[in-house]
Amino acid sequence: MRGVLVRLTEAWAEILQRRADAANSYPLPVQQLLGEMVAAATLMQANIKFNGALILQIFGDGPVKLAVAEVQPDFSLRATATVIGDIEATATLSTLVNVNNEGKCAITLDPKSRLPGQQPYQGVVPLFGDQREKLEQLSEVLEHYMLQSEQLDTTLVLAANDKVAAGLLIQRLPLQGTGNLGGAAQRDEDQIGVNEDYKRIAMLAGTLKREELLTLDAQTILRRLFWEESLTHFEPLTGDAGPRFACSCGRERVGRMILGLGEPEAQSILAEMGEVDVGCDFCGAHYRFDAIDVAQIFRQTGEVPPASERVQ
Ligand SMILES: [Zn+2]
Repeated sequence: MRGVLVRLTEAWAEILQRRADAANSYPLPVQQLLGEMVAAATLMQANIKFNGALILQIFGDGPVKLAVAEVQPDFSLRATATVIGDIEATATLSTLVNVNNEGKCAITLDPKSRLPGQQPYQGVVPLFGDQREKLEQLSEVLEHYMLQSEQLDTTLVLAANDKVAAGLLIQRLPLQGTGNLGGAAQRDEDQIGVNEDYKRIAMLAGTLKREELLTLDAQTILRRLFWEESLTHFEPLTGDAGPRFACSCGRERVGRMILGLGEPEAQSILAEMGEVDVGCDFCGAHYRFDAIDVAQIFRQTGEVPPASERVQ
């Protein structure tokens, strides 16, 4: 079994603070959802070690229209949510993003060096279970996804509040050694849901309460849950090697976005507003382009690039 535990404090505080500085603070239920997404995206990136961005998105049909958490291979991360309308203090996953059972969750792997025309890999899962019942835990949504995409049992426990975003991931490793020879994939699949060791570890992980995940340090959590198991610990990634806030926006990228809008559209924004002002939802930075800047953007190149360079 492999386990990953993440506990975000400063990185999560910075995401919330930047939002509070740029616009209205997220209501608590949105903080909980977005924090769980950031924790989950960090766990998934750590688990697959993908050489590119892992982007977890929820396209909601409720007051939260879009929520995004993005984690780079070096664990720099950012997140944002678009909230329209009022959020009740008691809002749940379904009342936030899945009112009509039409909410979707997308997991995108965007390779660092993409060949021309190559698309990022994307998996999309609904926010309901096998009987179309609305799921109320993001962890269940992602467990479904990981079982589908990796054919490996996965247990996730997620929790977030206004100070901490945390998560625990337990996954059954594929068969190794001689077990890998001849039909290992088939035997791996046969193990889904029946592997006794996994069931025991998952059951223990499932007893972890959200409150414990939010308040206890990693060592205490592991000791409480798995004191009878033999554990191999890896050095925790902290500071510059660990998860931390960083935004990949920049003036040049915004310039390309304006180029993608086309000159008539850019000119009409100029005529109406006097400048083109593009704000970054992730970090709150503003990029302002006046008439001269805009003219320069369209003079630089005759060719028009695709409207969006990145998935988002
Ligand atoms: Zn930014």
